[in-house]
Amino acid sequence: MNYKFQIIGGAKEIGGNMFLAMGPHENIVIDAGIQFPHDDAFGVNYLIPNFKLLPKITRLIITHGHEDHIGAVAHLKRLFPEIIIYAPRFAKCLAQKKLERASLVATINEYTDGDQIDLPDFFIEPVRVNHSIPDTFGLVLLPKNTDTALFYVSDFKYDEQSNFDPPIDLKKLSNYAKTKTQRILLADSTNILSRTTKTESETSLCESFESIFSENFPRIILTTFSSNIERIKNIADCARKQNRKAYVYGGSMFKYVNCAVESGLLQADDIKFLESKDQLGEPCVVIVSGCQGDFKGTFRRIAAGYDALFKPRVDDCFILSSRSIPGNEKKISMTLNKIAEYGCTIITSQERHVHVSGHAGKEDLKKVYHAFNPTQLIPIHGEHYFLNKHQLFSFDELPSSKAKVQVNFDSFEIKNEELIFSKHVPTDDERPILIHGNDIEIERDAIKQKRKIAENGIVLVNFRSEIVSTKNYALPISIQTLGLPAHLNSYHQHLVKNVINVLKSTHKASNDEIQAEVNSAVKTAINGILGYKPVVVTHIL
Ligand SMILES: [Zn+2]
Repeated sequence: MNYKFQIIGGAKEIGGNMFLAMGPHENIVIDAGIQFPHDDAFGVNYLIPNFKLLPKITRLIITHGHEDHIGAVAHLKRLFPEIIIYAPRFAKCLAQKKLERASLVATINEYTDGDQIDLPDFFIEPVRVNHSIPDTFGLVLLPKNTDTALFYVSDFKYDEQSNFDPPIDLKKLSNYAKTKTQRILLADSTNILSRTTKTESETSLCESFESIFSENFPRIILTTFSSNIERIKNIADCARKQNRKAYVYGGSMFKYVNCAVESGLLQADDIKFLESKDQLGEPCVVIVSGCQGDFKGTFRRIAAGYDALFKPRVDDCFILSSRSIPGNEKKISMTLNKIAEYGCTIITSQERHVHVSGHAGKEDLKKVYHAFNPTQLIPIHGEHYFLNKHQLFSFDELPSSKAKVQVNFDSFEIKNEELIFSKHVPTDDERPILIHGNDIEIERDAIKQKRKIAENGIVLVNFRSEIVSTKNYALPISIQTLGLPAHLNSYHQHLVKNVINVLKSTHKASNDEIQAEVNSAVKTAINGILGYKPVVVTHIL
């Protein structure tokens, strides 16, 4: 039997994770993630892989609840309405909320440790892993009637001290090393450049948290990733030990903590939701969302002084228990500077041990390498140079394995137990789709236009068609500018004259052609004044 696999997203960028597995009877995907745009994205909220290029997909298996793995679930469901979805309990709750928000109905099949998902072409065995969100799984795909095991583990770390999740079941992985002759490992490259070789345990943060919480701050406002339920629980426990009340606050915090309670990961009395000012007792720790400094986020709102419940005070302590996702550095430092204006204490992971990664360091990778003993490694979850570095690292650590860098849309096949790789020539069509507003697709040309308008302003020219037909140039010509300097107002008559000159000299018959000539003349005239050409839109009424 032949099987074909293709990485659709997540191999040459961070985010948009998706892996396609095609068997003789059906095509399934693992994860449907989004990618976050760079900060000059002109209103683009996120990007999704171009699903329109996929063959018919019958099943989606979700590994965990991070946005770069489930964020596109509603888009995929809309394209393949019959799709059957599988997810661990916490990710199921989050994905279900996404589908509800998009007015879509789907039953999500839950899986956990020890389950075997028996599909027409594959047995899938979930392997629980540690990560920065609970209930995360790697998936072993066993293509039926082959001697192959493929372990897809895009996000993981090895945390022996976690009081939340057990570490990866290495014994289970080593069983495949004994029973399967071909073992393909697709593994996390996120931290391959890091000098920290062993990713530290979530539990290791408790000592610093307790130490800071024992200090004399009446209010501690801490921001972290809302999905990191283990950290939120640890912080609440540390706060209680230091006789502080602990609250969560912010839309995203409420969403994730609610799902954690629904999924049984937290007890309702583990942490309180801060919903009114009167509720807030001191001393306290308030865990808020928005650790990336998003303009609409709670952390930013508090820092800017316009939150309904919090105004920063000089005796407040703010803790940034997170790292900046590349591209967000500026927004975060702007937020911290806002807080600094109030004279508050600020603690970041650069000074104190208040953040650990959720991804594998080199030592964590080695543990999986040695247990699974892959015959073939394919680095995933990273930018292109991360994948190359991961490949080089594996040459030292896994001399018996081959390692191959595959980027999005490259593929490999299992044909009579032989592995055949195909390189793919990228095309523009494969670029991720841009999503903005109410989860609506926006074309790249529209974004280009937004950028032009934002950078160069817009000029609206309006006049009646009689000007052309009667040659009465005394009729009014309206020229309105938006996003352009007031300096241009003194050139209003000059611009009107330019329009009249076009109308006098034009030999064009259609309105469209005349409009194009006017646009061009006004652009050139303004370029002569300002040194750049705005977008000009002419309407003949
Ligand atoms: Zn993740």
